[in-house]
Order: sequence, then structure tokens, then C-alpha cells
Amino acid sequence: QNKLKDKRILVIGLGRFGSSLALELVNHGWEVLGMDSNPRLVQSYSEALTHTVIADATDDEALRQVGAAQFQRAVVAIGTHLEESILATSQLVDLGVPDIWAKAISRRHGRILEQVGAHHVVLPEHDMGERVAHLVSGRMLDYV
Ligand code: ATP
Repeated sequence: QNKLKDKRILVIGLGRFGSSLALELVNHGWEVLGMDSNPRLVQSYSEALTHTVIADATDDEALRQVGAAQFQRAVVAIGTHLEESILATSQLVDLGVPDIWAKAISRRHGRILEQVGAHHVVLPEHDMGERVAHLVSGRMLDYV
């Protein structure tokens, strides 16, 4: 299967970051499986996302059951729960998911995620802080 044409993605963690990302991908025609261990959160996105599942992403049996290994892409959108973020990323690496994106809340967290095997690490708060600095200092041309 052509990797570029495979518009299926697993999004783990439906907090502010994960839910925005998941909804945006759905708007762009992606098939999104949203996973969170919080049933109320999963319930609230069950209409908007393609598929949703209540599951603990650190549990390899649960990941196997939802077919996580079949995804070409996954995002670990867990930040504050550092241990969960690291364990969930490590599970996806073990399953051989070839394109893993992980959110970090600090550079040190990001470094650990890279060491664990995440292919891309994003630091939304650092990055957005830098962008806003450019915007407030009038260098908007960079971003239009
Ligand atoms: P936000 O994106 O809202 O800023 P955050 O960075 O503070 O979130 P967390 O609150 O740690 O990140 O986690 C985001 C979501 O991931 C939460 O909804 C939480 O329920 C979910 N989550 C945490 N651990 C797991 C896990 N092991 N399995 C599945 N979902 C999890």
C-alpha cells in the first residue's frame, strides 16, 4: 500500500492538543481512530471522529485489539502524564508503527521520546511561544 495515500491515523490522547489535531485531520479527509482512557472524553468525540475507543495505550493487549500495529501513522498526544506518554510511545515502537509523532511538554521530555524511538517530536507550547514572539514583534510576513 502506498504510504502517502494511506490517510489513516491513530491519535492517542484526546485532550486539547490531541482532539484539535484529530478533528483537523478528519476535516482534511483522514480516517482517525481516537483513543483515550477517559470514557467521557471518548464519548464526547465519538460523533466527530471516524472511530473512537476507550483504551489504555500503555496496555499492549488493548493496542493489539484495536489493530494499532496496522497503522502507518500514530500520534501520542499525551503531555502532562509523562510516564503514560513514554510508555505509550514505547508500545507503538514495539509494534513497529513506522511514523510515530509524539508531543512533549519540555525539551527533556522530547529527548526521552526520541530515545524511546519516536520519529517526530513536537513541542507545541515552545513552538507557539516562538511564533507569537514573531507576531507581536511585527514580523508577521514570516507567517502569511
Ligand atoms: P492537553 O492536550 O489537554 O494539553 P496534556 O498535554 O495535559 O493535554 P494529558 O492530560 O497528560 O496531556 O493527556 C492527554 C489525554 O491523554 C488525556 O485526555 C488523558 O486521559 C489521555 N491519556 C493519558 N494517559 C493515557 C493512556 N495511558 N491511554 C490513553 N489515554 C491516555
